[in-house]
Amino acid sequence: MKVKKKVKIKKKNFMILILIIMSISTLTYTGMNFFYSNQNDKTYKKIIKDKRLEELGNIDEKLNYFNKDYIDRYLKYKENNPNLSNKEIVLNVNIGLDNPFYTNTKEATDLYENTILVNKYNYLNADYEPKDLEEVNTYYARNGMKLVKEAKEQYEAMAKAAENANLKLVISSSYRSYQYQENLYNNYVIQDGEEIANTYSAKPGFSEHQTGLAIDLSNGKTSYTDFENTEEFKWMQENAYKYGFILRFPEDKVNVTGYQYEPWHYRYLGIKIASYIHENKISYEEYYAMFLEN
Ligand SMILES: [Zn+2]
Repeated sequence: MKVKKKVKIKKKNFMILILIIMSISTLTYTGMNFFYSNQNDKTYKKIIKDKRLEELGNIDEKLNYFNKDYIDRYLKYKENNPNLSNKEIVLNVNIGLDNPFYTNTKEATDLYENTILVNKYNYLNADYEPKDLEEVNTYYARNGMKLVKEAKEQYEAMAKAAENANLKLVISSSYRSYQYQENLYNNYVIQDGEEIANTYSAKPGFSEHQTGLAIDLSNGKTSYTDFENTEEFKWMQENAYKYGFILRFPEDKVNVTGYQYEPWHYRYLGIKIASYIHENKISYEEYYAMFLEN
């Protein structure tokens, strides 16, 4: 009897041992499989990514504003614009130019800052109003022209310097509220149709005038639309940046800004940024994409 019982127990133990061994091998096999397939997947993804970066000349190593989330957009844009350099492709896509104007829009960042970027991809809400708006001295502006305090002070200093050179700067438009822009834009659409209106007037929320940092200039004798033909314009070309202002919609940047050439429209950015833009002859969109966005 005793012997029989022992054999039974041995048999039982043996079965348990087999079961344990089987479970361990199954678990190990599954685990290894999972590990390897994961590794394979990772390696595969890396090869694809490397191949795509190669197509872009491995420019990610040279540009600190390269955005790895945009690789697909870069490649698509490159396909449609084979004549552009890889640097231009990255820059333009970062600006948003691979999408038509007024599409893929987002709310502007840097609110209440001198660096705020408002254009056909970045908008301000209807209730956005700059802080510390102040009225510009009517000696250098039409009645009721408001700007953000710092921009106002720098503008008045600039206008005074122009005056010392026997020239006259007069603001014909500065801060405009969302509602004001809405009326203006709607009237332009009635007058010229939406397509044409879009080339010279911003949709409400997309106007830089709502930031309180933009001005339209005249010399007080002719309309602001004639500003290009004045001595004051020549003076602004050479001196605006010293006071922190830039020509915002230059003739050679229409494709980037989405606006026709506006010799009368200036934007306050502060002396440091304005000087860089002046020296390097770039648009604010390009500056923002290179130095501020990421
Ligand atoms: Zn303007």
